[in-house]
Amino acid sequence: METGLMDIEHHAKLKQILMKNRLNGTASELIKEVLQSEVKKGWNERTSKLINDLNITDDHLNKEKKSFTQHAKKNVMKAFREKLISKSAKKSKVLHLTDKCSEWITGKRRSYKDKLTRNQSSIIFQTRTRMLKVKENYKNKYKTDMKCRACGQQTESQTHILRECQTLHQNKTSKITEADMTTEDTDTSRVFYAIGTAKICLRQID
Ligand SMILES: [Zn+2]
Repeated sequence: METGLMDIEHHAKLKQILMKNRLNGTASELIKEVLQSEVKKGWNERTSKLINDLNITDDHLNKEKKSFTQHAKKNVMKAFREKLISKSAKKSKVLHLTDKCSEWITGKRRSYKDKLTRNQSSIIFQTRTRMLKVKENYKNKYKTDMKCRACGQQTESQTHILRECQTLHQNKTSKITEADMTTEDTDTSRVFYAIGTAKICLRQID
């Protein structure tokens, strides 16, 4: 049986159980003594566990070398293949997650991506992350004067600038909700309108 495909770990396992078979076949008192000694105890325990894991019975273990070797190779190869399969299953799970993730990212961008300029995307991004250039988003810079630069009455928050300021929004149609720029299923023309209006508002307080 071809075992050239196995990794080092499984080759070592095979060698280990072949050794055990060899030792079993050497019915010498010395070997028995060595196997029971403290020095060999660790090896013996590990080998017993391995034999157990590989579904090798005592019956097999006491067979003559040639027949045991065949059986051992078969079982070690099987263990190796099973490990490969479980490894690649894990890998494809990771790949699946990565796919989902990029699907999510590109999906998000796809609805706007081809149509939006860099500047327009940036407005959306800034709105979502509360980084539009309004005073409340930059408290440290404006802490002494947080009054709206358009009306001079209210605190200059993102919401105030986008839809509440009486000076900026004298008619209803200019009012933009943040949802206009944050929901994925928003009508595209609404997104463009919202971005445009936001830019006008921001220009007036700049
Ligand atoms: Zn205002």
